[in-house]
Amino acid sequence: MVLKLYNTLTRKKEIFKSIKKGQVGIYTCGPTVYWYQHIGNLRSYIFADILKKVLIYNKYNVKQVMNVTDVGHLSSDSDVGEDKIEMAAKKEHKTAKEISDFYLKIFKQDFKKLNISEPEIWCKATEHIKEQIELIKKLEKKGFSYKTSDGIYFDTRRVKDYGKLAKLKIENLKAGARVKIWDKKNKTDFALWKFSEKLGERQQEWKSPWGVGFPGWHLECSAMSSKYLGEKFDIHTGGEDHIPVHHTNEIAQSESAFGKKPWVNYWVHGAFLIFEGKKMSKSSGKIATIEDLEKKGYSALDYRYFILTAHYKSQLNFSLKNLDNAKNSLRRLKNIISEIKDDKKINKKYLVDFEKAINNDLDMPNALAVLWRLVRDKTASGKIGAIKKMDEVFCLDLLKKEKIVIPVEVKKLIDEREDARNKKDWAKADFLRQKIRKLGFKIDDGSEEVKISKI
Ligand code: AMP
Ligand code: ZN
Repeated sequence: MVLKLYNTLTRKKEIFKSIKKGQVGIYTCGPTVYWYQHIGNLRSYIFADILKKVLIYNKYNVKQVMNVTDVGHLSSDSDVGEDKIEMAAKKEHKTAKEISDFYLKIFKQDFKKLNISEPEIWCKATEHIKEQIELIKKLEKKGFSYKTSDGIYFDTRRVKDYGKLAKLKIENLKAGARVKIWDKKNKTDFALWKFSEKLGERQQEWKSPWGVGFPGWHLECSAMSSKYLGEKFDIHTGGEDHIPVHHTNEIAQSESAFGKKPWVNYWVHGAFLIFEGKKMSKSSGKIATIEDLEKKGYSALDYRYFILTAHYKSQLNFSLKNLDNAKNSLRRLKNIISEIKDDKKINKKYLVDFEKAINNDLDMPNALAVLWRLVRDKTASGKIGAIKKMDEVFCLDLLKKEKIVIPVEVKKLIDEREDARNKKDWAKADFLRQKIRKLGFKIDDGSEEVKISKI
């Protein structure tokens, strides 16, 4: 079955063809580890995970590389402001490394909770300074860079198709009359290397042929992707906010340095999670983390289910009411599935519909609809076999039995009921069953053992 993906570069849904047969290289722009990743950020990583799982489902051998931005990302994406990691270190009275290690650890814990597979390769910007300097040297040799008072910049005027990913209207972006650009030649030019303002003031700075400083944010992705995936690879992912600046600049510097066009064959972008009408973002102050959701009684997988209810290219409104609906749907779904007997067959018909949905540009809402039709079909066989296959992509632990925590109060009632049953006091046993039910637990007296489940 063919897999189709929407390619931002061509603005078309295209049939996916890998460079090497049976193998796919994916680069996923990773987190800037200066704070917790909020559930908006995590929507982007769930989307990248679904893409990866769909490729694996289609029998591709996937190598995914994810960067960890632990230096160089300034408070504004356009090379001004303070380094986010340095800023957090100052605020929290910690070293830059303590900051990035801590938030990366939490990020990885969230991955685990959300059933997101870790990439085959994690790479940190601070551990690839040498590669980044080499890349600047390459660009310098080809005449793509120039020096300003605060760093080495990429000359975007040298790239004829600059801005093609975002379809930027370049005439509006070139050195404009009213735009303050310091001694940059063009508004769109971006830093490859920034000089430290005062030596020793920053925690993270390195020597380079141009002066002591640190690499620009966009550079790390070009340097590390080429190291681990080669100078041309299959898929690059990220959130839609990366299209006009970060990814546009990654393309400009990579295509100029490596001479391969296109540098990446498929650019796939996830849409925003919206909260109260705006993109969820730290700067708005209106955010939530997975831990916040857990404190309110939702699991990370309730959130994953919620994300799957929308197509990755559609913006999605977050609210507790919407999350509640997702939580209830997932609970109902798992309850129904727990009642289904495994006949050791696989329902092919539903699986084909499921494959059609996931291979049609990762249409997860439709894939979920197929799953619901399957579980509600009274005559279908091979349900459990098909659900197991589908869950390789959904990753919602659909067949995992919930570990139920029984409160002490309920345990006592269960023991009392057992006692009543042993004494053949059926009226009392029935009364206790009702009492237990009121507390939210159901009792099934099987032939061998008594089963307790949550209602
Ligand atoms: P950052 O740590 O700021 O580099 O962001 C990490 C990832 O989260 C990037 O791929 C962003 O595009 C993505 N992102 C940020 N805000 C949102 C949002 N509200 N919804 C979905 N993705 C987002
Ligand atoms: Zn990137």
